[in-house]
Amino acid sequence: MTTTTFLHTPIETSATYLLTDSRQLVFPNQTLFFAIKGQHHDGHHYLGDLYQKGVRQFVVEQKALTNALTDQLESFEDAQIWEVDNSIKALQELAKRHRAQFEIPVVGITGSNGKTIVKEWLSQLMSNDFRIAKSPKSYNSQIGVPLSVWQLNENHTLGIFEAGISQSHEMKALQEIIRPTIGIFTNIGSAHDEGFRSRKQKATEKLRLFTQSQQLIYRADYADIDEEIRLILKPVNPNCELISWGTSESCTVNVDWHKDATQTYIVMKSEVSKFDDQLFSVPFTDDASVENLVHCLILMLQMGIPSGEIRQRISRLKPISMRLELKEGINECYLIDDTYNNDLVGLSIALNFLGQQEQRPQKCAILSDLLQTGQKEEELYAQINTLLQQKGVEKLVAIGDAFARNAHLISIPADFYPNTSEFLGSLDTNAFKDAIVLIKGARPFQFERIVNRLQQRVHGTVLEINLDALTHNLNFYRNRVGNDTRIMVMVKAFAYGSGSAEVAQLLQFHRVDYLAVAYTDEGVTLRQNGIELPIMVMNPSLSTFDKLLECQLEPEIYSHKILAEWLEFITEKPSAAHLPIHLKLDTGMHRLGFTEADLPRLIERLAQYPTLKVASIFSHLVGADEAIHNDFSRLQYERFVAGAAQLEAALGYRPLRHILNSAGIVRFPDYKLDMVRLGIGLYGVEVNRQEQRLLQQIGRFKTVVSQVKHLPAGETIGYSRTGVLEKASSIATIAIGYADGYDRRFSKGVGKVLINGALCPVVGNVCMDMTMVDSTGVLVEEGDEVIIFGTELPIYTLSDQIGTISYEILTGISERVKRVFYKE
Ligand SMILES: *Cc1c(COP(=O)(O)O)cnc(C)c1O
Repeated sequence: MTTTTFLHTPIETSATYLLTDSRQLVFPNQTLFFAIKGQHHDGHHYLGDLYQKGVRQFVVEQKALTNALTDQLESFEDAQIWEVDNSIKALQELAKRHRAQFEIPVVGITGSNGKTIVKEWLSQLMSNDFRIAKSPKSYNSQIGVPLSVWQLNENHTLGIFEAGISQSHEMKALQEIIRPTIGIFTNIGSAHDEGFRSRKQKATEKLRLFTQSQQLIYRADYADIDEEIRLILKPVNPNCELISWGTSESCTVNVDWHKDATQTYIVMKSEVSKFDDQLFSVPFTDDASVENLVHCLILMLQMGIPSGEIRQRISRLKPISMRLELKEGINECYLIDDTYNNDLVGLSIALNFLGQQEQRPQKCAILSDLLQTGQKEEELYAQINTLLQQKGVEKLVAIGDAFARNAHLISIPADFYPNTSEFLGSLDTNAFKDAIVLIKGARPFQFERIVNRLQQRVHGTVLEINLDALTHNLNFYRNRVGNDTRIMVMVKAFAYGSGSAEVAQLLQFHRVDYLAVAYTDEGVTLRQNGIELPIMVMNPSLSTFDKLLECQLEPEIYSHKILAEWLEFITEKPSAAHLPIHLKLDTGMHRLGFTEADLPRLIERLAQYPTLKVASIFSHLVGADEAIHNDFSRLQYERFVAGAAQLEAALGYRPLRHILNSAGIVRFPDYKLDMVRLGIGLYGVEVNRQEQRLLQQIGRFKTVVSQVKHLPAGETIGYSRTGVLEKASSIATIAIGYADGYDRRFSKGVGKVLINGALCPVVGNVCMDMTMVDSTGVLVEEGDEVIIFGTELPIYTLSDQIGTISYEILTGISERVKRVFYKE
């Protein structure tokens, strides 16, 4: 045993795995951990924990080394600890040296959209020709890229990596790590514009990925890309062969296409024979997919893959979703649907997500064989077994021959099936009762069939919740309030319609301080779903006190009557005296709360019951979002602070004080006190719209077209004949009505929905389960997707249309509507 000293040499590691998020640890003795000090998390806090778990290699940042931390690290026995200025830079440096060992072709992809799809399609399309290392999911950041490149090993014959940047000067580091020999620049759009002065500057920055590439494929129809390549890239990298494509005759490859209902026919003309006279039909008709595919086609032709082969493979291509979806299943189970691919990194990401979910007592996984990993089977399946054990999977269903061959390596309870049909044939759906089930399979296994059998509510109306956007919004408010103020998140009313158990899981994972609900039942549901955070109940009643105690829910006490009832309750049940309470002061809302006149008596009562534990004192602003009420907000704040001071003096300690809601956090940063109560902002709505662009919309409410009719002028549509057609029209019936939460006030042209990019107004009255919209002039077919709200059609447009607020639109969405949660 040796005591540890800090190393200052370049990192020479024996580790197979690089780790930056301590929660993703799987193989401790083969892991090198990089402690990164970020805005919200500091990896240095987890060093002790990781050491305990068996990690022995660490990279730490000099500026994070307090005396206490140094002492702790010096007590680690048999550990290697590198002390560096910047852990991310050290990680990048290590990846750079790793990359330098390989002389294989490497494709580097950047651009505003389509990077991940192009990468995934290329790796599907070329998996017969190469053993491919690729970025997992969309690992394309300053941390994601080095982790991706680290996967390269001597078995690989091709690398495909994507690079994404959000600010100037980020690409150079990524270029040095990926060192693409062939580049693809997908396109340029407006995403992440904040970090750049202009589109042009953004293009210039992205081009840095290709400063040493031998070839670059790009679409010359984007004039700024074309111009920047000629002006900026060419002088720096004169030997780079530019393969431009587009509608212009001057492109290396002139590309033209036309579509029918299901296919797009692509025609290529070129001076270069391998691209000339090529014709492909592809099973997609949307422009984005066609663009992504042309990039893939040109790269494959460039790499010498015969066009007959390419045609065959393309015809089998499927859309790619990188999403991991969480949805409710039958028999009280939950499903994590990740049916598009299965590789080791993807599996470990999905298992991490499974590991975070505490909604159900049992964790199960249904997995297919992993295809084309280039790794030895015994090694691979032993690793999978370790992963499953580590992430607490108690039951496995394994589908495929490779799994069956390696059954002896699986030590958790498992059933093996040769294929998906056999499994479905003998499926007993009760087997997954009360479980959370990860369903992850490679494409050919068609695991969507399993999802269809196990999911609940398959009808077409869905509210999709983007968990990454939720995290983004949480971080936005966290940055606003800083580290010294706690955050209580309001998950009342089914988390503003978004689904309280799932949202609360995410908040628990991100370690918010408190949750609050309106009624006891809502708190009970959260406890039943594994939520352990403290929870405040704003409107408790005598009849639910037992439940509060049983579930450790903390009541808001807002009147003398409820205080007296609570005091009586805790006298009878002394164990309840330990449950903290929250005192609500009425400073002007005049809803619930003690008024100024109530305070003397309240103070008297508190003195009589010194065991009562007051966790917080709070009040609520009536007009935090509106400037005309600024004076009143100040008055409320002053009343609140004065009232809280009196109570504190009487209690002899200082409970948490809080008064700000979402709008208040943005508009009154000086009033943040000890805690804030975040509500609608988390769900992506900034009530005063001042900072709306900094939040991400989390929800997409969508349904489908059930039928389309072409009707002559003079016909009427729907109940009471209110929708009179003035001219011949196409009418689409969509599968949503007021019972789903599509308000009847949207009737008669007030509401508009998006179908295939066009706004279609409601005709006649909204019915209970259906609505008719005017789709005249829009190409609409039965089964098409209809967007009620989403990024393209913000919630506030809907609330404005019917003269209400976003809160009502969100919370009005019926519980019969299926919620699907996803992350990229
Ligand atoms: C709902 C609620 C909030 C959150 O309000 P938002 O406007 O949604 O941020 C805060 N405090 C109390 C008491 C509430 O009832």
